[in-house]
Amino acid sequence: MSELLKISLPDGSVREMPRGTTPADVAAAIGPGLAKAALAARVDGELRDLTRPLEGDAQLALVTGRDEADALELARHDYAHVLAEAVQSLWPDTQITFGPSTDDGFYYDFAPGARGPFTEEDLPQIEARMREIIAADKPLRREVWPRDQLISRWKQQGETFKAEWAAELPEGDELTVYWSGEDWLDMCRGPHLPSTGKLDPQAFKLTRVSGAYWRGDQANAMLSRIYGTGWLNKKQLDAYLVRLEEAAKRDHRKLGREMDLFHLQEEAHGSVFWHPKGYLIWRELEAYMRRRLDAAGYAEVKTPQVMDARQWEKSGHWGKYRENMFVIPDEVPNIEDEGPLVSDAAEWMALKPMNCPAHVLIFKQGIKSYRDLPLRMAEFGCCHRNEPHGALHGIMRVRQFTQDDAHIFVREDQLVEEVRAFCDLLDSVYKDLGFNEYAIKLALRPDKRFGSEAMWDQAEQELRDAVAASGRATEAFGWEELPGEGAFYAPKLEFHLTDAIGRTWQVGTIQSDRVLPDRLDASYVGEDGERHRPVMLHRAILGTFERFIGILIEHYAGKLPLWLAPVQAVVATIVSDADDYANEVLARLQAAGLRAEADLRNEKINYKVREHSLAKVPHMLVVGKREAEEGTVALRTLGEQQQKVLSLDEAVAWLSSEAVPPDLR
Ligand SMILES: [Zn+2]
Ligand SMILES: [Zn+2]
Repeated sequence: MSELLKISLPDGSVREMPRGTTPADVAAAIGPGLAKAALAARVDGELRDLTRPLEGDAQLALVTGRDEADALELARHDYAHVLAEAVQSLWPDTQITFGPSTDDGFYYDFAPGARGPFTEEDLPQIEARMREIIAADKPLRREVWPRDQLISRWKQQGETFKAEWAAELPEGDELTVYWSGEDWLDMCRGPHLPSTGKLDPQAFKLTRVSGAYWRGDQANAMLSRIYGTGWLNKKQLDAYLVRLEEAAKRDHRKLGREMDLFHLQEEAHGSVFWHPKGYLIWRELEAYMRRRLDAAGYAEVKTPQVMDARQWEKSGHWGKYRENMFVIPDEVPNIEDEGPLVSDAAEWMALKPMNCPAHVLIFKQGIKSYRDLPLRMAEFGCCHRNEPHGALHGIMRVRQFTQDDAHIFVREDQLVEEVRAFCDLLDSVYKDLGFNEYAIKLALRPDKRFGSEAMWDQAEQELRDAVAASGRATEAFGWEELPGEGAFYAPKLEFHLTDAIGRTWQVGTIQSDRVLPDRLDASYVGEDGERHRPVMLHRAILGTFERFIGILIEHYAGKLPLWLAPVQAVVATIVSDADDYANEVLARLQAAGLRAEADLRNEKINYKVREHSLAKVPHMLVVGKREAEEGTVALRTLGEQQQKVLSLDEAVAWLSSEAVPPDLR
């Protein structure tokens, strides 16, 4: 074995370094600038500590603050350790447990000592101590310990939770610990930044406190969880806090209440009660989608809500998906007080969690020829999935939802063109709905999958080709491939919208499936007179109506485009003398097909304006004595300071043209 290690760097150069070299040494050998900027290293792809010696020849990439995802992950992980150290130094009888990084920061679970659970009042004091630990620039040093040594250390320190955890790891295992300076350590897989001083003391904030059970089990001790958000610099933190505030203002649950759109209640966990105004948004959106699908050659169907368990067995859902299905007996229930509701002999049925198998059953009616393909079958299909109550969120994550679902049955030779056409349709729908920015991702074969390698090679390449043919496999569309993230039966394209405050939402999808047509024995007669399997494209543009309407509400902060607004205009009187004229204005608006209301209440005009602004009514037509005499209206548009005086004819004509849905212009 050579005494020198060959270290290959990303620029293709190779450096020879002595045995025992660390990535930090390599950085120093390259230059002092890099030595200072380096935070960690990727060694043969694995993220590692800067000071961990290299074991042999390696591909090495130094990680700096420019590698934002890696740097954020490291920083958040370090903040969690610094939080734990700070809490223990303030309250030494606190026991530490675990604390991971999260999407925007970190948390740590503690077993508080005599002082009792933490509260938000404690946070400033803990933050101050965290800043002291960061300022002390304590080295974060990795050590490998035998398991038993670690268990006895935890026991000695009274860390019963840590000791319990370590004792369950395989005997004889070596575990890594990380020292912070010389006086505090936590067991951890790492990696970490080289020292606490690499953290920006102004780039984190502790946000809240909650209870959490040890190991997430209600039977265990209740711990005290402290959450924080952590970033690389103050600018990032500030931008995040502004975004958070903006998101709270736009929260669809809050706006849904203020605009009287919908509600949820415990009697129907995760199913939405749509109020008249909310359902108007739904109806407009559904009508729009129906027009777009009709024009694109889809045929709409409606399939049963409940199907026999044997059908779900055939499609594979019974085996893979039953825990998420609402299962119901096919038996008249027992109405006597005594005795079981359902007998042992009951057959089982289930509410559909998806529409796919039912569409295959329609496809299989009658003989299909190659000339019938592509066959595009759409359904605004209402599905039910039994999600745990804790996972539900407003109308964004629900148990009863309606997809803008469709399945396209295609021949192999039609697949790429059909997917390309879908990309165009989806692009045009998103633009119509006010989303100009979205990303396209190709989710590739997962570890556990059906089908041969050749099938996957082909299926992935087809989707790649289709996006390329649509001209969107580019940086502008955030085009990227996600290894391992496809469905077990098919690769899929994912479409992620960016909303007005920069958040992304995965909504659209298209998957090319050769498995389900096979399982359910769907076929068509080819030009050669033989039976062939069609490929089934599962696709959605909005995803579900519930979630998409939630996204629209938050994207527009409730100020929906006129064609989607549930109430498009309110006629408001300044004085009761104008009531007759107001009713005339209202009748004109309604006759022109506008959704309008009149507010004739004996209230001050400013009060009326404030109330309808809160309900996000796009236009108010204010009328008083003068307007009545002159046949005019004072038009106030939501979000604009100035009002304009128009003749009634002009106002009606202008509003009607503004209210035309984008596809009908
Ligand atoms: Zn750690
Ligand atoms: Zn499907």
